[in-house]
Amino acid sequence: MSDLILRNCRVRGESQPVDIAITGAFIDAIAPNLPQQGVREIDCSGKLVTPPFVESHIHLDSVLAAGQPRFNESGTLFEGIQIWGERKPSLTHEDVQQRALAALKLMAAHGCLYVRTHVDVTEPRLIALDALLELREQVRDWMTLQIVAFPQDGMYSRKDNEALLEEAMRRGADVVGGIPHYELTREDGVRSVQHAFDLAERYDRLIDIHCDEVDDDQSRFVEVIVAEAIKRGHGERVAASHTTAFGSYNDSYAYKLLGFIRRSNVNFIANPLINITLQGRMDTYPKRRGLTRIKELWQQGANVSLGQDCIYDPWYIFGTGSMIGVAHMTVHVSQMTGLQEIDACFDMISVNGAKSLQIQDYGLKVGNPANIVVLDAPDAFSALRYQTIPLYTIARGRVIASNTPAQMQVDIS
Ligand SMILES: [Zn+2]
Repeated sequence: MSDLILRNCRVRGESQPVDIAITGAFIDAIAPNLPQQGVREIDCSGKLVTPPFVESHIHLDSVLAAGQPRFNESGTLFEGIQIWGERKPSLTHEDVQQRALAALKLMAAHGCLYVRTHVDVTEPRLIALDALLELREQVRDWMTLQIVAFPQDGMYSRKDNEALLEEAMRRGADVVGGIPHYELTREDGVRSVQHAFDLAERYDRLIDIHCDEVDDDQSRFVEVIVAEAIKRGHGERVAASHTTAFGSYNDSYAYKLLGFIRRSNVNFIANPLINITLQGRMDTYPKRRGLTRIKELWQQGANVSLGQDCIYDPWYIFGTGSMIGVAHMTVHVSQMTGLQEIDACFDMISVNGAKSLQIQDYGLKVGNPANIVVLDAPDAFSALRYQTIPLYTIARGRVIASNTPAQMQVDIS
């Protein structure tokens, strides 16, 4: 007798439907027509059953804060930073936790159970960091939350920032962040990347650097990250986020860089919802897309995963918590409309994200935690085409969210 059995599940890579049996918090069998009974059984009717989605890049300290104290009318990065600067002094522990928890619940209902959040550690009280470190423990039995210590204003732009970053590592941040393109000089930017690698080695943590999130074709810090990863030899523990300037580099430089990237094993994290709206704002026409070269990175065999970056905050007015929505946007803005390419975009919100976050027990396998999503679609293509909402989200063997799909009726004879 199992606690829960999902019957008739379509699983990517399997030629025929399977049943999945769960006991306690773990998967204990996967096979067609399992003979055992379950205390509870769900008939999945041939729908796609997948491991949960992975949010590779979000800022939970600023989610759900749009309009506080005012809306971003110009839509620019700079007005967003200005508004956030006005909001920051009124941040409290409870305020950060409430908004972050609401966003995590939204994401769980959309089938996402692994989240990497950046948190601004240039705020001297480290209020948001402490709030999210505590929340990470509170949600542990249904959500895996990774926290990146992110020096939003630059590591070297104010004298306390370097020490605040290290303090964040001491307090338990999982990942070292950085923002080299926003340091005062190119030299400071290079130094900040090297320092992030040093800290990661000293505290045995991962690395995820906001890198080249500008339209400036001379912003070239991906090469610094890649060089450090090649020399130090642990590129799979490193991620370069945004890298939008990559879309503006000349092809000769870009293709040379792609070769180095391949050697480095560095993960790339793109945020197409926000960057298609935020970048290219200084251009008239032709107006650049302001996105990293997602398709070319994928073609070169680099690991690419995706994030929302923002949900209803001073930089991005939309956002639902849906990673399927992010993949849907990626198909469009990266022109990945071939069938294999669409499938690759589904990978970017699932298995590739798990690789970026270095999740060791991810996937539908016997012995793994029973983290499972049942989608209202027969396959990944249809899930993206219809931007499906999951029927069930199961975390550690427990059904924690369900949705009833809307019924469309057409009465035209
Ligand atoms: Zn970001």
